[in-house]
Amino acid sequence: MEKTIDEGIQGSVLSTERKVQNQRNLYIESYGCQMNFSDSEIVASILAEEGFNTTQNLEDADLVLVNTCSIREKAELTVRKRLEKFNAIKKDRPHLKVGVLGCMAERLKHQFLEEEKIVDMVVGPDAYKDLPNLIQEIDEGRNAVNVILSKDETYGDVAPVRLNSNGVTAFVSITRGCDNMCTFCVVPFTRGRERSRDPQSIINEVNDLWNKGFREVTLLGQNVDSYLWYGGGLKKDFGKASEMEQAMAVNFSQLLEKVALAQPKMRIRFSTSNPQDMTLDVIHTMAKYENICNYIHLPVQSGSNRILKAMNRLHTREEYFALIDNIRNIIPDCAISQDMIAGFPTENEEDHQDTLTLMEYVKYDYGFMFAYSERPGTLAERKLEDTVPPEIKKRRLTEIIDLQRQHSLERIKANLGKTQEVLIEGVSKKSDAHWMGRTSQNTVAVFPKEDYKVGDFVMVEMQECTSATLLGKAVGYSHNN
Ligand code: SAM
Repeated sequence: MEKTIDEGIQGSVLSTERKVQNQRNLYIESYGCQMNFSDSEIVASILAEEGFNTTQNLEDADLVLVNTCSIREKAELTVRKRLEKFNAIKKDRPHLKVGVLGCMAERLKHQFLEEEKIVDMVVGPDAYKDLPNLIQEIDEGRNAVNVILSKDETYGDVAPVRLNSNGVTAFVSITRGCDNMCTFCVVPFTRGRERSRDPQSIINEVNDLWNKGFREVTLLGQNVDSYLWYGGGLKKDFGKASEMEQAMAVNFSQLLEKVALAQPKMRIRFSTSNPQDMTLDVIHTMAKYENICNYIHLPVQSGSNRILKAMNRLHTREEYFALIDNIRNIIPDCAISQDMIAGFPTENEEDHQDTLTLMEYVKYDYGFMFAYSERPGTLAERKLEDTVPPEIKKRRLTEIIDLQRQHSLERIKANLGKTQEVLIEGVSKKSDAHWMGRTSQNTVAVFPKEDYKVGDFVMVEMQECTSATLLGKAVGYSHNN
């Protein structure tokens, strides 16, 4: 609950359906945000055409790929340990090749390939279509690298493989890169500038998922509300597009509507929203279509205007409150979650109190909270000293987490006695006799199986709860079924 990066899936190995004609085995581990997991599905799809089946057994692997995350120092340290392990295995199995994908690629390519010599291949997040050439290079005994960031790559034409999935919920990438330049964040440097994917290819993917039995999609991007399709190219070049291209452009609210209409029974979620880009149109579109879930992940990072400015978050505390008020007025039962950073450079006790009072105002349903981690190359690293001592960061983070726990419990308790629609995703982790699913508000609900099955929309009466899970009893199918 406290981490935006789901610790339970860190390092999980992607497994896909085997093609009999494929002779080699790919072992691919993923770290970091959902975007990385989604990218690994694209990589597996590209390599399935190149003779690779995926395996979950390291012993069977001919190629090991690690899809990496740079967002905090801890994430990089975890990946490093894994690379050292894979490199050690190579001593006994010289034919094994190891590659680094994703966000650590650009910054650490020389170190990995030339100084430490712990990998054979380094591939940045926009270069996956070059994998067939890069693999040929390493097969011929040369190191291979491509970390070029693209202006238009969105992988809109690659159908990701969806295995290891529950067959019910899927992520659909709609934008890549980020233009926000938050001073703490490496994303614009590791994943490049923002570009949007062709809406028709998004709709085709959603239709295909529906036909395969999926019942919920999450539209994915670093800043989905900034989505803008005008025929391709970087968001920042929109002003250079022709009048016709500008007039025909599709923004996020319009995309949401198109997806909601394309599959009226498919549940639709999206993540992540940046407050500065979330418009009233989006909230109205959410309210208009029942199949768009009532849940918004709305990172704020700090409650202090001074710190928001230093972070280059382009809104104030007051503007954030106005947005929250609008959401609550237009969609009264909307769940809202946050990302928060404790101990950003120069943060003092007053700033920290502002964060706590902002949380009191909003009373978030969930929270994903972090201690500030200085990242090389970011504006904060270049311009601001990491002034807050680790023990103070830790104490402030604990206070934020404790307050969020209280709010999560308060918010979840408000569901008791209500009957809500739940989409069944699978068996409960704690009991084989129970199903696990989510409400529209993204709250996990668990209830006795009876005759229902995975993928069913079921009405569940909520009877008890913990701070993160509702426990209930099914009272029948939802009209969506
Ligand atoms: N694009 C989203 C946004 O603008 O809020 C999410 C970006 S990031 C992948 C997810 C979260 O990691 C951020 O919202 C932030 O709370 C946290 N994060 C990013 N950089 C960080 C840093 N240098 N130190 C600590 N937390 C960080």
